[in-house]
Amino acid sequence: MTFGADKGVLELKADVLILGGGPAGTWAALAAAAKGASVVLADKGYCGSSGATAPSGTGVWYVEPDRELREKAKASRYTLGGQLAEDRWMDRVLDRTYENMNRLGVSGYPFPVDEYGRQHRRGLQGPEYMRLMRKLVKKAGVRILDHSPALELLADEHGVGGASGVRTQSGGTWKVTAGAVVIATGGCAFLSKALGCNVLTGDGLLLAAEAGASMSGMEFSNAYAICPTFSTVTKTAYYSYASFYYEDGSVVEGAGSKKGRSVIARNLLAGRQVYAKLDQAPEDLQPLLRVAQTNFFLPFDRLGINPFKDAFPVTLRLEGTVRGTGGIRITDENCGTGVPGLYAAGDAATRELICGGFTGGGSHNAAWAMSSGSFAGEGAADYALSLGARAAGRNPSGLSSSTLTAHEGDRGYQNRTAEYISAVQDEVKPYDINLFRTEAGLTASLDRLDQLWEELRGGEVALTAHGLKRREAAAMTATARWMYASALARTETRGMHKREDYKALDDSQHYRLVSGGLDDIWVSPEAVKESALL
Ligand SMILES: Cc1cc2nc3c(=O)[nH]c(=O)nc-3n(C[C@H](O)[C@H](O)[C@H](O)COP(=O)(O)OP(=O)(O)OC[C@H]3O[C@@H](n4cnc5c(N)ncnc54)[C@H](O)[C@@H]3O)c2cc1C
Repeated sequence: MTFGADKGVLELKADVLILGGGPAGTWAALAAAAKGASVVLADKGYCGSSGATAPSGTGVWYVEPDRELREKAKASRYTLGGQLAEDRWMDRVLDRTYENMNRLGVSGYPFPVDEYGRQHRRGLQGPEYMRLMRKLVKKAGVRILDHSPALELLADEHGVGGASGVRTQSGGTWKVTAGAVVIATGGCAFLSKALGCNVLTGDGLLLAAEAGASMSGMEFSNAYAICPTFSTVTKTAYYSYASFYYEDGSVVEGAGSKKGRSVIARNLLAGRQVYAKLDQAPEDLQPLLRVAQTNFFLPFDRLGINPFKDAFPVTLRLEGTVRGTGGIRITDENCGTGVPGLYAAGDAATRELICGGFTGGGSHNAAWAMSSGSFAGEGAADYALSLGARAAGRNPSGLSSSTLTAHEGDRGYQNRTAEYISAVQDEVKPYDINLFRTEAGLTASLDRLDQLWEELRGGEVALTAHGLKRREAAAMTATARWMYASALARTETRGMHKREDYKALDDSQHYRLVSGGLDDIWVSPEAVKESALL
């Protein structure tokens, strides 16, 4: 690794560059380093406290290698996900998740212990988990660049060969030339302020598309989480203990955290505030719930609300692809993207391979993040190390679809960025466009998003923290366009994709939808491998 001569630019060389330092990125870094590769990891925030997992407790798809238990686990979401998952991938992810969770156990993760001294390895507390992952990554010799979002990938005739970005705290820019790059930048929650998710703006999806990769399952991107109106904590699992009420105390029939979210959405759309109370939680469980998710209770405690006894107003906060399943298309078992030197993992990649068109988080995403991260890290290291002499003297150039410039925009430029961000939010947040989908609603929205893309595409992006915001606006717009183009193409209801004008599942559409393109968006079907579960 070397430093560049220019004081403002940090220039490094590595075999593997990882973009994103959540679970997927840190597992990728560990796997690549274990193969003997030199590794740099760049994160938009601080690796260890940034991203969706860091502030949350997450359930993990950890299943003993017992044939019957594994078959049951595989079947559990198969139908819910529209039968788009594949046996081979579910098996691989179950195996690798089991292995990685056990590794965490021996590396010092404080799993709870039962009266027989056995560790319970079904979940992870985000802060403990990510603190340990940072420690393990550093111990493995990985160079971490915190507060260093990637703005563009670099490529030459051999394929993707690095990335560059800005350093939001120290100022200046960074550039890493690498034999292979893993995109692990998480999903896209459209700056909806869901806790841990405001760094997740679809950047990796745009970077991948600019390099020629495609997306898959982008119609499965409309996750909304139940959340108090006064809080950003979107821990939906606790609402399985909730009853829902109107202001006058009468019950909202059919509302619930699993199947009844649309009932809540329809009431909110009609201007009727919905209230929740966790009054179904047994009294002896309540102290445990507090310990398991302390940050869930903080906003209540601050306002003097007892959520087990007092009704509180709720809303549905957009989590987009974070607890959806769409993302960068995976083309091989190493989580390659079909572009030489480019790999994808975690929420940035499609999770259809293990849970089809539905997840809701709840164990599969966490398992996918740690497994796909490991697969991608290994694949990227093998690829980079196989380049041999071809790796020396590479001088790859930037792939950004907008011009990156050293000039900081004036106040007007910055205000326009804020306008672009709220314009894309106006298309993806409304329940009557994104949750209750119709041909008319999606088409009109897509037209507006196309115009927005044209404007963003023509503009310049400053190599500063502000320029990052402009790139985020572009990434969110691109993500929304793949989402809605795919949603229009799927003329049925499957998984979390719900069409008001095609309410039933259509067996003839039992395929995945691959999408891509920047100026012109395309969508095409891709066959799903036959499953023994069918
Ligand atoms: C409230 C909540 C609860 C959840 N509970 C569960 C659960 O119980 N079980 C489950 O399976 N899943 C759950 N999930 C989903 C789970 O958290 C995610 O699947 C997981 O965090 C994905 O890991 P990741 O590394 O891909 O992304 P993240 O953890 O989101 O990390 C992405 C990282 O990329 C960085 N980044 C973003 N853009 C850039 C850029 N341009 N350059 C460099 N770095 C960048 C971010 O700063 C971040 O650190 C939950 C999600 C939420 C929001």
